[in-house]
Amino acid sequence: MASRRRIRRVEQPRRTRLSHWRADGEPKTRYRSEPDANRACLQARLEHGVDLTAYLCEFCGGWHLGNP
Ligand SMILES: [Zn+2]
Repeated sequence: MASRRRIRRVEQPRRTRLSHWRADGEPKTRYRSEPDANRACLQARLEHGVDLTAYLCEFCGGWHLGNP
């Protein structure tokens, strides 16, 4: 069995941090508005101690949380 797994770097889409997708390929949680996303940000910080930032997604027009 020949496994051809050529990765052409040129054709790989650049993974930006401000993405619609999570690292595991699933879409991120979408928030309708910035206040909603900021609230979730704060909650994540309080509950999990993670530092997230809200950003507007160009893909779906919603808001997601990501690492700053
Ligand atoms: Zn999105």
